[in-house]
Amino acid sequence: MNVLVINAGSSSLKYQLMDPDTGIVLAKGLCERIGIDGKFTYKPQVEGKEALKAVDVSMPTHSEAIQTVLSALVDRKNGVIGSMKEIDAVGHRVVHGGEAFNQSVRITDEVMKAIEDCIPLAPLHNPANITGIRACEKVMPGVPMVAVFDTAFHQTMPAKAFTYALPYEYYKNDKVRRYGFHGTSHKYVSGRAAAMLKKPAEELKIITCHLGNGSSVTAVDGGKSVDTSMGFTPLAGLPMGTRSGDLDAGILQFLMNKYKLSIDEMLNILNKKSGVEGVSGVSSDFRDLEEAAEKGNERAALAVDMFNYGVKKLIGAYAAAMGGVDAIVFTAGVGENSVSQRLEIASGLEFMGVKMDAAANNCRGRETVISAADSKVKVLLIPTDEELMIARDTAALCK
Ligand code: ADP
Repeated sequence: MNVLVINAGSSSLKYQLMDPDTGIVLAKGLCERIGIDGKFTYKPQVEGKEALKAVDVSMPTHSEAIQTVLSALVDRKNGVIGSMKEIDAVGHRVVHGGEAFNQSVRITDEVMKAIEDCIPLAPLHNPANITGIRACEKVMPGVPMVAVFDTAFHQTMPAKAFTYALPYEYYKNDKVRRYGFHGTSHKYVSGRAAAMLKKPAEELKIITCHLGNGSSVTAVDGGKSVDTSMGFTPLAGLPMGTRSGDLDAGILQFLMNKYKLSIDEMLNILNKKSGVEGVSGVSSDFRDLEEAAEKGNERAALAVDMFNYGVKKLIGAYAAAMGGVDAIVFTAGVGENSVSQRLEIASGLEFMGVKMDAAANNCRGRETVISAADSKVKVLLIPTDEELMIARDTAALCK
């Protein structure tokens, strides 16, 4: 079976064609600058096939983008399938499923309506995801499609974890609550952690740290998300590349009054000019920050310290929330690659049974146990694979 995985943004569209049973990827790539000038990247994973890198292709809308992807996949010379009939289903990443979806679903008219109803909760993301789905419906009519939500895995959180201490009507009437994001990743790596530890997920308390450009930490108790650091929007929780993470709401009033900022200008600062980039004044990329810190840049060092400290505090909090922890998982760009940050985050947690193995930790991008053999809490490095998770959910609902 072949599943086409689509992650549609407002002007971009990532795709991957894979076999969900084996995890073998046939081709992947990216359409960029949709609606502008159109750039197409195609990376076949089959030997002897040639890649395309950011070539100019006219893509006025997402429909032409999908058409471009399909043409490349079935291309006589460099394609990886004989015809469109070999695409059995399409899995779409959808950012916000609100309270309507606690798992992936086959896309129907009713499901589309429910995804549209979630637009106010994710005004930038859901319209783009919907556009991607509509484009596929147009270009590949009759092919079954599935929506996989970033929020779904976190729908198991109890009310005490998801309710904000605001007047209750804002939850009842306006659905203001913690939703959490990166759910597909947290679900995937917590499942892999159980497999690596050879124990049923139901018997494990796991803290998953998805540390990338956007970062979130989740408490997974018995295979279910019971708390997570992102909130109503992906702005909450840890300081991120350019996002502030949690802060005292009183700061907004102070800064908006002092600098005569509108709420949109303020939110733009919190989303795009804050985080480790805002603090360091150097970069949002942790590689640049580590390099600058090594050369003595104190603000770069402070930004990395703040981030690591934030992750450490969440680990402590979630161990307390679950009444213990069996495993801590590191994943995503920083979690998979930064040897020093993993070590720094885990240091000082010996009191709760975390003991790292520095040699094992000196590794990147592959599933590894990085704690010492006698560490009570296992620490694991697990590369995330959201596409595989989407493909598997899609296959399960379309077989
Ligand atoms: P996104 O949230 O955009 O999916 P990723 O999970 O790809 O992000 O993470 C990207 C981030 O990972 C980069 O901004 C960079 O800070 C970090 N990163 C990647 N490689 C390394 C590395 N070798 N050391 C430290 N950080 C790294």
